Amino acid sequence: MTTRLVIANWKMNGDLALIDAMAQAYPQSSKVDVVVVPPSLYVAALLAAAKNRFQVGLQDIGQHQGGAHTGELAATMAAELGVAAVIVGHSERRSDNAEDDAVVAVKAHRALEAGLMPVICVGESIEERQAGQAEARVRAQVEAQAENLVGGRAVAIAYEPIWAIGTGASASAEEAVAMHRAIRHALEQIAPDHADGIRILYGGSVNAENAAGLFAHVEIEGVLVGGASLDTDQFAAIIRAAEAAQG
Ligand code: PEP
Repeated sequence: MTTRLVIANWKMNGDLALIDAMAQAYPQSSKVDVVVVPPSLYVAALLAAAKNRFQVGLQDIGQHQGGAHTGELAATMAAELGVAAVIVGHSERRSDNAEDDAVVAVKAHRALEAGLMPVICVGESIEERQAGQAEARVRAQVEAQAENLVGGRAVAIAYEPIWAIGTGASASAEEAVAMHRAIRHALEQIAPDHADGIRILYGGSVNAENAAGLFAHVEIEGVLVGGASLDTDQFAAIIRAAEAAQG
């Protein structure tokens, strides 16, 4: 069975006190993979606190390999520090920073060439879902990443319906499973030799109450957790739910 992947996305939240609290609270997990993604400024402190009990990621990465790009971070720098993964194409970056699929593909490529796992976010708006275009939209977003999917390196796809992010209105397990199957089908067509190794995560108002119901489905190979990951008890409970589903 695929090892489930549980990712905490702190977004622009957290401080040194939260790092201490979280480092104490996270259970050591040998059954599932856990990646905690703080604001970039806190990566070094979180790496020190993690003591290899969980991995640390970035919320974004620069498009360039280095040079005169004030304020940007290179994937190679993150790799040098011990960062394991990078979230790319989160809907908040797509909307706040006008990042399109081409930009997301470049960022995923930079992550891969530095040896980091890109966690590529895809997802439809409420308007697209209501218009019956959700699968087509998500499929197009996945296809735009084709070059990053065919190499056989560690990649994850996070299905995050925009209407479920930060709203408290999670997709139902059935809605998530249906989209995960559509994404799996797309991956099998795009990268037939490597699709099996690409984990598909769900994100959107995952919490301690709904995690077990999501993990009950084999199609949900992990979760990307925003708000609930800031609560030590909730995030530990989500990890335990993933472990229980792992068997
Ligand atoms: C996210 O940050 O990607 C996310 C899914 O947030 P939340 O869990 O708060 O909906």
